[in-house]
Amino acid sequence: MVKVTLIPGDGIGPEITEAMLKCVEATGADIQWEKVLAGSAAMEKYGVPLPEETITSFKKTRVLLKGPITTSFGTGFRSVTVALRQTFDLYANVRPAKSIEGVESKFKNVDLVIIRENTEGSYSGIEFQKASPELKELIQLLKRTHNVIIDEDTAISLKKISVKASQRIVKFAFDYAVQHNRRKVTCVHKANIHKFSDGLFLEEARRIAQLYPDIVYEEKVVDNMAMQLVMKPEEYDVLVTPNLYGDILSDLAAGLVGGLGLLAGANIGSEYAMFEPVHGSAPKYAGLNKVNPTAMINSAVMMLRHLKMFREAELLEKATLKVIKDGVKVTYDLYNKPEGSPAGTMEMADEITRQIELLLQKGDV
Ligand code: NAD
Repeated sequence: MVKVTLIPGDGIGPEITEAMLKCVEATGADIQWEKVLAGSAAMEKYGVPLPEETITSFKKTRVLLKGPITTSFGTGFRSVTVALRQTFDLYANVRPAKSIEGVESKFKNVDLVIIRENTEGSYSGIEFQKASPELKELIQLLKRTHNVIIDEDTAISLKKISVKASQRIVKFAFDYAVQHNRRKVTCVHKANIHKFSDGLFLEEARRIAQLYPDIVYEEKVVDNMAMQLVMKPEEYDVLVTPNLYGDILSDLAAGLVGGLGLLAGANIGSEYAMFEPVHGSAPKYAGLNKVNPTAMINSAVMMLRHLKMFREAELLEKATLKVIKDGVKVTYDLYNKPEGSPAGTMEMADEITRQIELLLQKGDV
């Protein structure tokens, strides 16, 4: 029996979590879930978005599966997801995007893995609010050090990139490439403009790349990378990027293979691991039993592999791919039959469960 911390999350989080739990249970995975709160549900119960009980559970189990959590735009509490990544030093965000049979999309042979630095960059959380005393001090400092005049009617967010974090994420990307038989690592940056921060990232990437002569190494400026990905995504393999570019490019990659309803991500540190869909809490769909549970199910597949439950992971993955390939009991974002109507979240989960049972009967795993 393995204990795993579970955060259902906000918006569509609880319903895709329920769907995922049903499918994982059908595989027979011997997991004891520790269900805890974060985000709005935690605010209501504890008055804080990331309660001590949640942190304690994750510290103990070291494995966390979470649904999406709402972070209001511009106001309210800081992102709980970012706080979890930073508190537990989950420095590598691994987001695979692969074409799936049965999904209508512009490309058929995409097989990318985005490896995003997860603890610093534009997500460092060092921000200066308009007209605050801290901002006034920073303005004085910048006037002295950079000879720039900044209006107090300004807000500033700092982007921090360190040698340590850059080295370990690039090393992680190359090790990942070696372990998963990948041929190429592309470093994505904007070092022509952010000369010091992205420049440092690039310098460390070049240094680490030399240690892996069997893996092709190349570099792309992030704006060009975005264009290349929508023109010829099949040419790319593993991408390693500072925080913000990785976040944006993974939504772009989701668009290349059929949408946000499909993509999962792992957040890996040296001691802890957290698994979650790439998508957010899609509040407008909350409670409608409408959205695709696949991203949450794929998050569970990644988690099962991390827990070395390979048979259960394969069962879950095979069954999900079969349901998507059949294209009948799938949610609105995947449904493309001329007649009939899409399945709801739970109907799709029921069909995946049925396929798992069939695979088990056939002994086909
Ligand atoms: P979103 O990813 O929640 O939704 C954008 C669109 O993607 C939706 O309107 C929908 O069309 C589609 N979509 C998303 N999930 C889907 C699914 N499972 N099935 C089918 N279609 C799906 O992005 P948003 O609207 O910009 O953000 C909503 C909230 O989520 C914000 O508060 C944001 O901060 C938060 N968020 C959280 C995480 C996280 O917890 N890791 C990640 C991203 C966004």
